[in-house]
Amino acid sequence: MDLADLSAPPRPKEPTLNAEPAVQRRLLDLQDLDLQLDQVAHKRASLPEHQALKDLIAEKSVVDRELVTADTEVSDLQREQKKADSDVEQVRQRRARNQQRLDSGQVTSPRDLENLQHEIGSLDRRISDLEDSELEVMEKLEAAEVVQADLRTRAEAFAGRQAELETTRDAALKELDEQRAQLGDKRKAVAAELPENLLAQYQRLREHNGGIGAAPLVGKRCMGCRMELAPSDLNAIKAAPPDAVLRCEECGRILVRTSESAA
Ligand SMILES: [Zn+2]
Repeated sequence: MDLADLSAPPRPKEPTLNAEPAVQRRLLDLQDLDLQLDQVAHKRASLPEHQALKDLIAEKSVVDRELVTADTEVSDLQREQKKADSDVEQVRQRRARNQQRLDSGQVTSPRDLENLQHEIGSLDRRISDLEDSELEVMEKLEAAEVVQADLRTRAEAFAGRQAELETTRDAALKELDEQRAQLGDKRKAVAAELPENLLAQYQRLREHNGGIGAAPLVGKRCMGCRMELAPSDLNAIKAAPPDAVLRCEECGRILVRTSESAA
């Protein structure tokens, strides 16, 4: 035990409340409804679809990012390919013009003919080089398109799976919301039967005691803390008037006497 506990002042005594035994037992119904509502809230928060969606979206975002990179790469290469195509085309046209001049017989000077033939030769080499780079770009583009298509398929599969999970999750949430609404209506009706001060005490105790503010006395046991009461406490309970709202000496929760109680 901590030394601070020894010196701590005793808890201020709350006023003893009174309520008819039937009203006190109604508090147990309220407690039961509150626990069911807690369960619904817990189920709502811990649907497996929540985690599955979180994991899926994390994986999907990686693929989506890779797809953006792949799209950029493909469009860059497409531009490069167009440039390579037009480069080859330009040189081909120039070569064709030279060939035409050569074939036309208009060029007669041997020196000019030699120059023309020489230029055609170098244009042929240039065309061959450009065709090589054109081919290289085309191969790169094809490879990039394969990567892009694969990523697109994967991204679509992720999107499909995400939509499925969202549908399942929404259906589960809708069902839980309906349960919550039904329980909420019942709770409201029961709470309306209880005096305000008893309800307030119960709420406060429930908040500080893991969701259980009131428990029945079953045999000699408080079902809130599962402790068996001391004989002296049981005697005090026996002596208490039926409308006295009792508290468990062990856990402090409201202790409700029922037909199953030993006192
Ligand atoms: Zn107790």
